[in-house]
Amino acid sequence: MDTDVLIVGAGPTGLMLANQLARRGVRTLIIDRHAGPSLQTRALGVQARTLEIYAQLGIADRAIELGKRGTGANLWAQGRKMARVPLGEAGQNATPYPYMLILGQDDNERIMGDKLRDLGVSVQWNTELVALAQEPRSATATLRGPDGSERRIRAAWVAGCDGARSAVRELTGISFPGAPYEHVFFVADTEVTGNMVPDEVNVYLWREGFHLLFPMRGKDHWRIVGIVPPNLRKQDDVNFEAVVPSLRNEAGVSLSFKACTWFSTYRIHHRGAARFRDRRCFLLGDAAHIHSPVGAQGMNTGLQDAYNLAWKLALVVKGLADAALLDSYEEERVPIARRLLNTTDRAFRLAVSDSWFAGLFRTKVLARIAAFAMSLERIQKAAFRIVSQTGIHYRNGSLSKSLDGLPESAPRGGDRFPWLRLKLRTDGSVEDLFRKLDDTQFNLIVIGQPSPPDGSFGLGDLLRILVIPFEPINNLELARAQIPQPSFYLVRPDGHVGLCGVRLEAGAVKRYVTENLHSAAWRHVDGAGHTARPEPSIIPAAFTGEGALHPSPRSRRSFAQYSSRFLISRSKPRSGGS
Ligand SMILES: Cc1cc2nc3c(=O)[nH]c(=O)nc-3n(C[C@H](O)[C@H](O)[C@H](O)COP(=O)(O)OP(=O)(O)OC[C@H]3O[C@@H](n4cnc5c(N)ncnc54)[C@H](O)[C@@H]3O)c2cc1C
Repeated sequence: MDTDVLIVGAGPTGLMLANQLARRGVRTLIIDRHAGPSLQTRALGVQARTLEIYAQLGIADRAIELGKRGTGANLWAQGRKMARVPLGEAGQNATPYPYMLILGQDDNERIMGDKLRDLGVSVQWNTELVALAQEPRSATATLRGPDGSERRIRAAWVAGCDGARSAVRELTGISFPGAPYEHVFFVADTEVTGNMVPDEVNVYLWREGFHLLFPMRGKDHWRIVGIVPPNLRKQDDVNFEAVVPSLRNEAGVSLSFKACTWFSTYRIHHRGAARFRDRRCFLLGDAAHIHSPVGAQGMNTGLQDAYNLAWKLALVVKGLADAALLDSYEEERVPIARRLLNTTDRAFRLAVSDSWFAGLFRTKVLARIAAFAMSLERIQKAAFRIVSQTGIHYRNGSLSKSLDGLPESAPRGGDRFPWLRLKLRTDGSVEDLFRKLDDTQFNLIVIGQPSPPDGSFGLGDLLRILVIPFEPINNLELARAQIPQPSFYLVRPDGHVGLCGVRLEAGAVKRYVTENLHSAAWRHVDGAGHTARPEPSIIPAAFTGEGALHPSPRSRRSFAQYSSRFLISRSKPRSGGS
């Protein structure tokens, strides 16, 4: 085997996956057909959940230092400011990062690329995947190098992080149903002054669409995203000067442009892959789902796909879990992508519809409804949870278990474990719990009860135990998060709750691990904590058989369901090729 995981594509998704696998000791080969990192900004909004993942990777401080915190979003309609969403307040108890970080995709890629090099892995640029064959135990990839020569390598697994035109998707025959939108977007990096609220996102609704203004690093630097006005849509050579009149009309006559350093138009598609896995190959990021940039979710969703798959692949490669664990990747991530496509599609249609009625609705009714809704704290918090991606959960997934006795309002199996500030030692100070979690292990959080003695779980390095002492300040914080005492939460490496319940029994945790990791390694856990664990990095025979190569009946059933919903929801837009 030449490598454990071949990662095709060194965009944000591939770089995140490579980092996560490298820090878990998995051999990876990451390739990209381009000559070097992308210089285009493209994605600009880094959401709170991404920053939480960056913090575990040790790159959050660098990203925050380079970016600009967008602590609020303002909605304008026909020159009047209608509403403000105070992101800072709405998210202040939900995450250490209660804002949207404005940081270009190129900077994100650079930071992740630097980290990857620190971990001893370099991207092989100018290397393109051109063919792929799957065998029961491995996949053989044909790679074309910079001089046009081809070589074949064998990998245990292949991750298609190769963007909207994914070769992995095409070579595995996975369809990508969907369609392009008829509207053409433009994006411009400008130096401009005007009535925008500084350092915040400004959304201008107008009769013919919308304009988004994102604050960027540097004085008066704004990224403007909008749709090309109807009178210019048939023109091939639309330039910045051509869209300025509509910007001035709708975003305010006070706009004064000093410079435009980048202008581009593009057409967007909304598509979802029918499956995210074919035997040894996975699809992640734009290879699996593309949608309108409304809500700044695309790059962030790809990064979370990678975070979801990485810990599972690492356990399988190390022989600590059976390949059946990998079925949960598409089981968990397909519904997220489906929901994202549907919501961004609805929001986008509302924002761009050309009809006279829609224009009136957008500027008169929608703006007022939004203004009222956003004045309600509950709605602000709900909006923050959605946009920041901190509200993503896998409650319906088969890895998510909540034992009887927990109140309905408590965090449940599948939820992202909430951000808490707690005293972890009675004589210590209050600490950020997220900084105490180790995302290369399962973390067992024991609340309001003693933990079973060391060794009673027999899970070795797989498990880390944190006991939350009974302290007045802890009681308040736990009550805020609606976490009862006593209780326990087994948090997966990606921060989502695997198992939770009231009274902790070592047996329940061991059962969860043996049943869900399915690995022979944990079936031999005995009362004294001895395990029969295979050597790391040996591909276990367990996943070389038939069963490992096909989704389980459960995941196959749920998958058919998801894909048919994709097709139904995609049937409305104009049909067309990519
Ligand atoms: C104008 C614009 C604005 C956006 N704004 C936002 C935003 O604010 N927030 C947000 O979250 N998202 C945003 N997005 C979406 C975001 O850019 C994408 O979701 C993101 O780039 C997806 O990352 P990826 O790594 O999955 O794919 P990509 O970034 O497309 O990377 C794929 C990589 O695979 C490589 N590759 C392709 N085929 C092969 C092959 N056969 N062999 C080897 N390598 C190959 C490519 O060279 C490329 O480097 C925006 C997109 C656009 C266009």
